[in-house]
Amino acid sequence: MSLFDRFFGNGVPNGMDFEEQRRWMVEHQLREWGISDPRVLDAMGRVPRELFVPPEYRESAYYDGALPIGEGQTISQPYVVAHMTMMLELKGHEKVLEVGTGSGYQAAVLSLLAREVHTIERIPRLAERARQVLVDELKLTNVHFHIGDGSKGWPEAAPYDAILVTCASPTIPPPLIEQLAPGGRMVIPVGPRGLQELVLVRKEDSKVSQEKRAPVAFVPMIGEYGW
Ligand code: SAM
Repeated sequence: MSLFDRFFGNGVPNGMDFEEQRRWMVEHQLREWGISDPRVLDAMGRVPRELFVPPEYRESAYYDGALPIGEGQTISQPYVVAHMTMMLELKGHEKVLEVGTGSGYQAAVLSLLAREVHTIERIPRLAERARQVLVDELKLTNVHFHIGDGSKGWPEAAPYDAILVTCASPTIPPPLIEQLAPGGRMVIPVGPRGLQELVLVRKEDSKVSQEKRAPVAFVPMIGEYGW
């Protein structure tokens, strides 16, 4: 695939059914671009992304970019979902918090890689649609849905072994650091509206380290510790 195709084309050849498109996505949008964790590749190959986009975008579900999901929000690019998930280094025993349920796609991927997932969304209609897909259609039983301001985390189920934030914050919300377990990892887009850095936060006992990993552009986190 040329660089032009990667950024401006759909990137998925015509005439494939969804399963073939999913396999193609795993090979050419993920593995070829450096996603190497076999568990992440396997999970991305099992979640039917076409169920998480509105009907008018279903044919473009495997487009190599973000897509609108209504309410002014987006489902992230497959590569970004895979990259952020890989940074968490999940082994299967973890309790994970996701901030920004959106379509529920990222939560579905996490549910295949961790023991328990809590996901919080501020827009009730999105949370309900995501719950319908994950619980009613996919029969996933380890995802808990919450509605509210995720910039404050979800203290009721803390501490979390991993936290994944899928909306951008001007700074790292202190409650999220508090709710991270010792030895835990958090991935969060931090920076001004429009362009941020993906930051990996590690907590070792009382010591917290931060590492900038990649430039990204996420929708804003609206809330007490966001905008
Ligand atoms: N993870 C999602 C997926 O797989 O489709 C994509 C999330 S979308 C890029 C960001 C989401 O964060 C939006 O649905 C938005 O409503 C939500 N959001 C923004 N601020 C929030 C907050 N303070 N608490 C919870 N969710 C928030």
